[in-house]
Amino acid sequence: MSKQGIVSASEVSELRPGFQDWKQQAESQKARAVKALQSSLRMYELNEKIKSTLDLTTRLLDLESEAELFSEAVNLLTSEEGMGFRDASLLLVEEDSLHTACSTLERGKKVFTAEGDHRYARWLAAEGKGEPFPGGEDDQELMVTLRSRGRLLGLLEVVQHEREKVLFEGLDSFVEWRRDLVTRIGEVVSMLIDNLRLNQELKRQSTVDVLTGAYSRSFFLQRAEDEVNRALRYGRSLALVFIDIDHFKEINDEQGHLAGDMVLRELGSLFRRNVRNADVLGRYGGDEFVWLLPETDLEMAVCAADKLVNEVRAQRFELSGEGTSRVAISVTASLGAAGLLPGENVEALLRRADEALYKAKAAGRDRLVS
Ligand code: GH3
Ligand code: MG
Repeated sequence: MSKQGIVSASEVSELRPGFQDWKQQAESQKARAVKALQSSLRMYELNEKIKSTLDLTTRLLDLESEAELFSEAVNLLTSEEGMGFRDASLLLVEEDSLHTACSTLERGKKVFTAEGDHRYARWLAAEGKGEPFPGGEDDQELMVTLRSRGRLLGLLEVVQHEREKVLFEGLDSFVEWRRDLVTRIGEVVSMLIDNLRLNQELKRQSTVDVLTGAYSRSFFLQRAEDEVNRALRYGRSLALVFIDIDHFKEINDEQGHLAGDMVLRELGSLFRRNVRNADVLGRYGGDEFVWLLPETDLEMAVCAADKLVNEVRAQRFELSGEGTSRVAISVTASLGAAGLLPGENVEALLRRADEALYKAKAAGRDRLVS
């Protein structure tokens, strides 16, 4: 109270019983209303984002490499026009550990093993056994396991901004809703990872012969065409060698088809060990291989091919026979070499190398003819 006996308005209100309570209630109600308004505005904003997120997700469908997919997915989760999370990380399971594939977080460590007492070790232990891991250690982050066709692929992690956490505290349905959305994005990413890997495997299988590791005939012919054009254009030398295993049918007949396959597989690795990186080795069909040597004239090719004839003859192939008995067999190969002539095309070069091979067979096999 003032000395003059006059009281101020605030002093009056302090005097009135119950007024302070009412004032507090009003303040807190106002704060709640502001918060509710902010939340619903933000929810509306997020709702709009979610609609556009679906459009953004379709952008992921066109990507052709895993690296692109990961960086686009992380961008979708963290960008303002996307989901607007503070941080997002994609980690992939390789062997028994987790590798950071893409993350907005600065991480000292990129690979996490199942050892130790960190959350990735716990995640690996739980998910490895098929037990779902709790989706995040506090309500600021979400952890979504990536799986496709029953296989564990990795982990998607997002961290929300502090302001969002404060805004949506207690709004369980919203938190669930958002978790669902991140889970859906995780499912799309898993499906796309799986798809990219499947495509890659198909591509590999169509370019490489699975048994011998040499290129498939169609891939070889495509490469041969490119190399011939390049050699002709730049006036460079190019050689081609046909390789055919001698009496290979006898191995199948005497040792069985599986033993024949094993010999072909080992011959494939022997050939691959003996050609240079720039060379192209193809399986032309059955027991016949083609070997293209860029920047190589006929004389150099003859030298390399002669060496290969000797290598094949020296190789022993251990075959497991009946029971525990093992048989070691050896094989020989006939080779025909040709060097590219000016103006020649692939077909003509192949024909001349094949004719040379025929001569090598006719002359008694186990040799090179050029
Ligand atoms: P030559 O010295 O005249 O070449 O005699 P050859 O017995 O090798 O005759 P040819 O090259 O005509 O026969 C190849 C044989 O290779 C015929 C086929 O049974 C066998 N063969 C082809 N592809 C495979 C395969 O993928 N696995 C196995 N095990 N055998 C194959
Ligand atoms: Mg043969």
